[in-house]
Amino acid sequence: MKAKQYTLNMINNRMKQKILTNYVVNSNDCWEWQGRLLKLGYGAISGNKQTNLVVHRLSWMLHNNQDWPIGLETRHLCHNRKCINPNHLIPGTRQENLDDLRKQNKIRISQMNANGMELVTPKGVFASIAQASKAYDVCPQMMYRYIKSDPINFYKKKR
Ligand SMILES: [Zn+2]
Repeated sequence: MKAKQYTLNMINNRMKQKILTNYVVNSNDCWEWQGRLLKLGYGAISGNKQTNLVVHRLSWMLHNNQDWPIGLETRHLCHNRKCINPNHLIPGTRQENLDDLRKQNKIRISQMNANGMELVTPKGVFASIAQASKAYDVCPQMMYRYIKSDPINFYKKKR
């Protein structure tokens, strides 16, 4: 995602109304966005110039009544990309975000099925690392390296 500056004045009444109501609270107290999702799984809403804005960031701004801190990314403490609960979100550096994602990806790939997880990759969603490695035409060890080195594009998700 290219760095876009998020300021309170870009949130109009239509957006505000939607952000404050268009979610469902799950058992983990996540506020799951019910609208459109971006390819990576984050909630999206159209801004004034038909640009895609990520909803969790706008939600944090509305509830904290401040602009998004320039240069920082969003850390989802609950690891639920659909979640827009401001209490589950904190601004963080890219490094912190990558560390979070790596930690989350640490669960052994061999346990993916047992835990009802699937692997999301740019080439699609796979039930196992073996399947994904075939699609990428590499050995499973190399696949595992891809996953570890690129937690933005390779991540595990509950089925
Ligand atoms: Zn959450």
